[in-house]
Amino acid sequence: MTHARLPDQGRDAAAILDELDGFAAEDPAYRDGRIWSLVYHLDDAHDDFAHAAYRRYSSANGLNPAAFRSLKRMETDIVSMAAGILRGGPDTCGVLTAGGTESCLLAVKTYRDMARKTRRVSRPNMVIPATAHVAWFKAAEYFGVKPRLLPMTAGHATDIVKLARRIDRNTVMVLGSAPEYPHGTIDPIAEMAGIAAAKGVPVHVDACVGGFILPFMEMNGADLPDWDFRVPGVTSISADLHKYGYAAKGASLILYRDLDLLKHQMFVHQDWPGGVFASPALLGTRPGGAYAAAWAVMQKMGTDGYRDLARRTSEAVEALKAGIAATGGLAVIGNPQGPLLAYRSTDPDLNIFAVADRLEARGWSVNRVQNPDGIHAMVTARHREVTGAYLADLAQAVAEVRADPALADSGSAAAYGMMAHVPLRGMVKSRVLDIFAEMYRAGGGGGVDLHAGGEPGLIDRIATRYVRWKSRRG
Ligand SMILES: *Cc1c(COP(=O)(O)O)cnc(C)c1O
Repeated sequence: MTHARLPDQGRDAAAILDELDGFAAEDPAYRDGRIWSLVYHLDDAHDDFAHAAYRRYSSANGLNPAAFRSLKRMETDIVSMAAGILRGGPDTCGVLTAGGTESCLLAVKTYRDMARKTRRVSRPNMVIPATAHVAWFKAAEYFGVKPRLLPMTAGHATDIVKLARRIDRNTVMVLGSAPEYPHGTIDPIAEMAGIAAAKGVPVHVDACVGGFILPFMEMNGADLPDWDFRVPGVTSISADLHKYGYAAKGASLILYRDLDLLKHQMFVHQDWPGGVFASPALLGTRPGGAYAAAWAVMQKMGTDGYRDLARRTSEAVEALKAGIAATGGLAVIGNPQGPLLAYRSTDPDLNIFAVADRLEARGWSVNRVQNPDGIHAMVTARHREVTGAYLADLAQAVAEVRADPALADSGSAAAYGMMAHVPLRGMVKSRVLDIFAEMYRAGGGGGVDLHAGGEPGLIDRIATRYVRWKSRRG
């Protein structure tokens, strides 16, 4: 590999921007609603507005909240507005973070440190559902907090029968999701919080994806279980502004019931030669543009705007659920009540990963989930316009896989099947690490990708191994 070189002479600004535009040619076509994850796009006018707000503060730095008073003011407003949306009380407080993962990592750090300080817990664990977002597993690894998993019931909800027994004196927190990412099911937060509170253990609700849409669905009349600060044992909530808040990327929140909890999140170093240092969250420099865009978008939307988006999203979700139920051999997984869902095959002869490949061949960009295997859809208001086209293509994709079941043993369907089902999980981990690391080789690697669009050699090798493994099992 050769490294790209810094140009000897600086280049023409217009030519550089043109080149940047060209880079996007192979990116997912999010503007026309053909991607079901990663981007929460409304329209170009909304993007322009968020960008205009972002630009005004793109050089501002939230590192020191006493320096850019503008940003602290925006942060306080955003936290206060979110506390209202999430039914907080007068003591609800929080911090603007750069994303859901930062919010989740912080909750684990906070509760680990709180347990260490107030209860001398030195070998911390946390009880989390098997469906918890992967950010929680990352936090577990980063901060040395052992995850104790709550399994799924046969209906793919979180099984809380063993929750009380999973909690011991080293348990620093219990997690519930509203909703969980893999299937969109809302965990039984009130029951979980009751059990945890009785044992004096704090409860975090991961509403990264639900925080800015479930409350508005409820205002629109949806019958949802309580999951927010109305539930007494809930001590903190994470909610992403850059998902259903429709803010620019780089904005999420972690809110706490009171400041005594939030204090354990903060970091102070008084002996640094660079000066006495205090920081509320993970990052040092904090991007001012993300504050401004989040603040501005919330002002522009208002309750009305978010309710309207929630209504359109619910319509799209209902259309998808009905269409999936009407397509033979498919079923929605679990009980999604929010803006996202996943569906699986109920027919052993219909491979769902092969269906995903056929959808991608028709220009849709979809995510796969595993155990049970399924196709995922993060639904936005804009998807209401494309559900008809999507469902028509889904019916075609199903027909194609039924006509040619061998599609399950080729391309990325085979690779995903292998990664989901080969019993040697350590082997999967090390293979994925190899493939992934290759993308970061100095000079750019071979352009590999976990999807079929990447370097064929690696994906083909995984696929071939899967077919061999499956045929050995008969
Ligand atoms: C998206 C998501 C996260 C992580 O958020 P990022 O902004 O992608 O870091 C955490 N939890 C849930 C439930 C999510 O859906």
